[in-house]
Amino acid sequence: MNTPLIDKYGRHVTYLRVSVTDRCDFRCSYCMAENMVFLPKSEVLTLEELDQLCTAFINRGVRKLRLTGGEPLVRRGIMDLIKSLSRHLETKALDELTLTTNGSQLATHADDLARLGIRRLNVSLDSLDAQRFADITRRGRLDQVLDGLAAAKQAGIKIKINTVALRNFNEDEMSDLVAWCGREGFDLCLIETMPLGDIDGDRTDQYVPLTVVRERLERDYTLIPSTYVTPGPARYVTIAETGGRLGFITPMTHNFCEGCNRVRVTCTGTLYMCLGQEDHLDLRDILRSGDANALDAALDRAMRLKPKGHDFIIDRKGAKPAVARHMSMTGG
Ligand code: SAM
Ligand code: SF4
Repeated sequence: MNTPLIDKYGRHVTYLRVSVTDRCDFRCSYCMAENMVFLPKSEVLTLEELDQLCTAFINRGVRKLRLTGGEPLVRRGIMDLIKSLSRHLETKALDELTLTTNGSQLATHADDLARLGIRRLNVSLDSLDAQRFADITRRGRLDQVLDGLAAAKQAGIKIKINTVALRNFNEDEMSDLVAWCGREGFDLCLIETMPLGDIDGDRTDQYVPLTVVRERLERDYTLIPSTYVTPGPARYVTIAETGGRLGFITPMTHNFCEGCNRVRVTCTGTLYMCLGQEDHLDLRDILRSGDANALDAALDRAMRLKPKGHDFIIDRKGAKPAVARHMSMTGG
């Protein structure tokens, strides 16, 4: 392995998230506008380029790779990319290859994913009510996602459900979601909405602090602080009644940047050093130049640019998003 990636605050970057497409079959209201304009194909990295880029990071010490989007499983040829990247699991250069998905295509792909060494998946699900699910995703079908989850479970893949807490939408479902995850053997992670990208509507209407959600959950369950700690933003508890693990991702109320070990690449090859900041480096041209040394040098440059932390605020009605790009660009 070449020199590891260490930023100017001494944080080792060992985790890469790659958004493999900006496209999605859903239009979740907190993530996208109804009429999204997606990128022309020429701007998007090919599967070969994505492979090359991921491999460059792995050669510099990245041990965990997460494919996300947009919806990663709607990208044509995605299973070929996963198959190719799984060679790094075989050589043990990578500890983990995983995906964040909306689950709509999981029923088709779960067995192949398990065969290629995918052990865990994050699946986003904001409601267990079919009508609400259709409303929030604007075009998703709950039964399709539930079938996908069943297939993944059957294939032996561990599941973490990601749920964005939304005011006046799913606040009343949190206890049911905890119970359901407990029965299914899924971990659950609750997320506060982050001000990323223009959407139709106002984010102050959607935002609910997880401190409020947690207080309500404590009426129904005993939340035991967990010893389970990751370098990621989630803080975990164990639910005494179900034995399940529950995480809280609170970018708006808790700063989780000190231990940050990750960077993100968009499907156009732009490297973002922080989800909540604009600092970035365009790797596409360097990648297309075919100069491996220049790519390595760019990764070192990126380490010097990684900011100390983010600075999200949702406090003013009609305020511009803190960051103009959508989550589907940078990947969740
Ligand atoms: N399509 C896949 C999915 O939904 O899981 C992967 C990409 S999606 C952008 C990744 C995660 O980001 C999802 O869990 C989604 O709920 C979350 N997300 C999207 N926009 C968000 C926002 N503005 N604030 C907080 N979470 C957001
Ligand atoms: Fe698509 Fe995921 Fe964004 Fe929903 S959260 S619109 S599924 S990218």
